Amino acid sequence: MKLFIYFSILLSFVSCAVNQSIGLTMPDQQNGNISSESNNKIINQAGQNSTIENFKITNDLKPISLNVNVIVLRRDNKSQTNFDLKNTEEKQLLIDYFDKMNTYWNNFKNPSDLTGCYTGTDFYPDSKIRFKFNYIELVDSYAWNYMNSGADLSAKKYNGLSPSESWYLSDLDKKLAADPSIPKGVFLYLTMEGRNFDELNKAKGKGFHLNGIEASQFPSSTNLERTSSVNIPNRYLKYLWHRYQAPIDHKTSWSETRNWHLGDAIGTAHELGHTLGLSHNNQYHGANKCQYSIMSQAAGHARNYLQPTEVLKAHKNLRESNLIQFVTEDSFLGNTFSINKSEIWSKKQRFYSNLKLEDNVVLTISEPVILAPQAKVIFGKNAKIIFTKNGKLIQPNNVEFSNFVNKTATSITKS
Ligand SMILES: [Zn+2]
Repeated sequence: MKLFIYFSILLSFVSCAVNQSIGLTMPDQQNGNISSESNNKIINQAGQNSTIENFKITNDLKPISLNVNVIVLRRDNKSQTNFDLKNTEEKQLLIDYFDKMNTYWNNFKNPSDLTGCYTGTDFYPDSKIRFKFNYIELVDSYAWNYMNSGADLSAKKYNGLSPSESWYLSDLDKKLAADPSIPKGVFLYLTMEGRNFDELNKAKGKGFHLNGIEASQFPSSTNLERTSSVNIPNRYLKYLWHRYQAPIDHKTSWSETRNWHLGDAIGTAHELGHTLGLSHNNQYHGANKCQYSIMSQAAGHARNYLQPTEVLKAHKNLRESNLIQFVTEDSFLGNTFSINKSEIWSKKQRFYSNLKLEDNVVLTISEPVILAPQAKVIFGKNAKIIFTKNGKLIQPNNVEFSNFVNKTATSITKS
């Protein structure tokens, strides 16, 4: 009963889990305070160079886009068991819901008091990370029912719900990743409570009381070919409740309860933070201690801010983890990374920036480095690139990279 009271007040429970650990939370559903006015206050100059270590987000950077495949799972071909992409109202609701991910990640609000959060004075209104959603319907009765993972939300049994290399959809992860008709991207599965579905569907959501647990998978910096998945259960059942039952229960209209539904998007925006490698805690504060952070799980927190160090952590993961597979081919920030000392690059990585080798720098590269098709590699005086082992410069489509500036006959050697 207590659960239902909370449910009525807060409209939903959204929770999340990373890898194997799951926590419950009841986030603030008030997300109407997002402001873009702070966009005007950005401090950094356009076109500046930095080293990779000193990278800062500047207003002039062009955002880079992460492909996210929203897999709308269906139990069968006969009945409607999830959002119907041919239904204009439902398709638009899904689009509006996922569009909010970009609203959150591009409109951070600068808190007036950072007590408990972070001591820096810097602030980024825009992560310069966008999510590009592709919607894919898939009939798969086993995948559709997350209870096949062993999880049972009614019984607060969350084991199995979290995407991992051994979770119940690991075979499907691999199968979809190998399908050339599907864009390379994060898989975000819209799964369902199979046991109560028919009853709740028939009742148009009446009696819906399931906790809104969501779960996401951290990126991997060791297996760059690995998939990344997110599990978002029961959104369709929640939609039925918002669409048909909530207006009755709360004596209001669907145009109002539709906004309640979209209010749940903050939970999924938080999950995508996990996908980008962010946790509830970081080197500046403990779990859920920053009341403004989008990565807080705590009830009543504003969750419309992300501290600069975390934004940069996400960008680092977009360069160095398995996420390099999922960024759109034309993603290019437009800045220039200065390489000002000789280095050996022995890990595969991807840049969305120009690279400038300063005078006399020798860069030894032993694994592939992926560069944006628009990027340039600029050589200073006597600067050199030496390729060893698997070292090469390529574009995201595997075409050899060749946009060099000030390259001489001795600039690039292979050994
Ligand atoms: Zn979380």
